Amino acid sequence: RRFFAEKIENNTAVLTGSEAEHLSRVLRLKAGDPILVAGEGEEYVCRLVQVEKQRAEAEILQTRPCLADPRRRITLYLAYMKSDKMEIVAQKAVELGVSALRPFISSRCVKVPEEKAAAKARERMSRIAFEALKQCGRTRAMEVGMPLSFSEFLQEISGHALTLFAYEQSQKPLKEALCGAEDIALVVGPEGGFSPEEAAEIEAAGARQVSLGRRILRGETAAIALAAIVAYETEC
Ligand code: SAM
Repeated sequence: RRFFAEKIENNTAVLTGSEAEHLSRVLRLKAGDPILVAGEGEEYVCRLVQVEKQRAEAEILQTRPCLADPRRRITLYLAYMKSDKMEIVAQKAVELGVSALRPFISSRCVKVPEEKAAAKARERMSRIAFEALKQCGRTRAMEVGMPLSFSEFLQEISGHALTLFAYEQSQKPLKEALCGAEDIALVVGPEGGFSPEEAAEIEAAGARQVSLGRRILRGETAAIALAAIVAYETEC
């Protein structure tokens, strides 16, 4: 099992809070036991030197790169949907190597959250994303953003090297749109889809529309499928 350190200093990994508690109370690890500690983009092979209920220190014996961290930066722009669906996408996006999840609002979104509710939803998604991070072996966290307005979203997608716009009316195969870009944005719309005007604006912002096949997928399925195909094409 890998642990997340509070800090790394003087060749020592310091674990606190729930990480230290899990290590000492649940797993009952002791000084001298080997553990693996996750850093930013690296992992450390360590040996515990001191274990208390709320704090543990481990000596770093070896540092190695974390191969599970994404090699490209993939940002998923997801039209705001019900929280249970957003949470599933957040979890799967981490497993599939997405670096940032950026929800946005469009005209056919079913539910537009108020700021307080959106902040709570973001906190929940970040927690779920962190659990997924630990489970799948990554060390770099997926950022979860607050919902963007449609104009903020358009401005952001225009800044990426490649933006793939999942559009159910598109005939363009996803495979052909993928190139060796290091910074890829993915766009998935709401249950009601995009209005023709919004679809035109997304394309005018430089996005390339792509098809995910002949069937209409639910938004959460489309997001997970798109991230999975991009992960396969860019990492495997
Ligand atoms: N309301 C739309 C309709 O009936 O035509 C369908 C919207 S779909 C439920 C939600 C989102 O998933 C879409 O905005 C699109 O981004 C994506 N999507 C679903 N099926 C797709 C497909 N076959 N190809 C590309 N994108 C798709």
